[in-house]
Amino acid sequence: MGRYLGSVCVLCRRERVKLFLKGNRCLTSKCAIEQKRPAPGQHGADFKKTSQYGDQLREKQKLRRFYLLQERPFQHQFLKALRTRGKTGEVLLQRLETRLDNVVYRLGLAPSRRAARQIVMHGHVAVNGRKLDIPSVILKSGDLVQLRQGHELGMSKACVEVAKQRKSVPDWLDLSPEKLSGKVLHIPARADIQVPVQEQQIVEYYSK
Ligand code: SF4
Repeated sequence: MGRYLGSVCVLCRRERVKLFLKGNRCLTSKCAIEQKRPAPGQHGADFKKTSQYGDQLREKQKLRRFYLLQERPFQHQFLKALRTRGKTGEVLLQRLETRLDNVVYRLGLAPSRRAARQIVMHGHVAVNGRKLDIPSVILKSGDLVQLRQGHELGMSKACVEVAKQRKSVPDWLDLSPEKLSGKVLHIPARADIQVPVQEQQIVEYYSK
């Protein structure tokens, strides 16, 4: 399946929740969700969830879109979570949250997950001092993420300033704004992961 190339705001309108896919615009009154625009389609405004399956599907789609994953890699993450000790839904969220591209975004080094993924894929990021250009790598406690020397991007500097002012870096990460780097202090607990999803619904969706 190819990459989604349509308007990302449509995805938020479809899920009726902010998925934060458009960088700083998501924090302004121009956001389609803030403007209370209806779900897309002829019957978008009247659309109602009608079945248990429908609810579970929507939760799965919401989480998948939140982290910009296609179905196959998302399923892969779910299977890995299933084979890991602990609550499957929580482990799934922890795996998604500690992906390299998401950590770059959470640290404020990029305005959106999509931009973070691009920065990583273009080789601008190092983990523990070594270049790493695979956005799906899962980071561990103690890993140090850094923009590579000579690759410090003006965009990242501006984003870090904004993140610093907003104090929006989560507690499980430690940002060093001067060095454009950050450390994973610990694996986030469910309470640390600010994602508007009922993960148990997703577990039930895949358990059928
Ligand atoms: Fe979603 Fe951001 Fe668009 Fe708002 S501005 S609808 S949060 S992508």
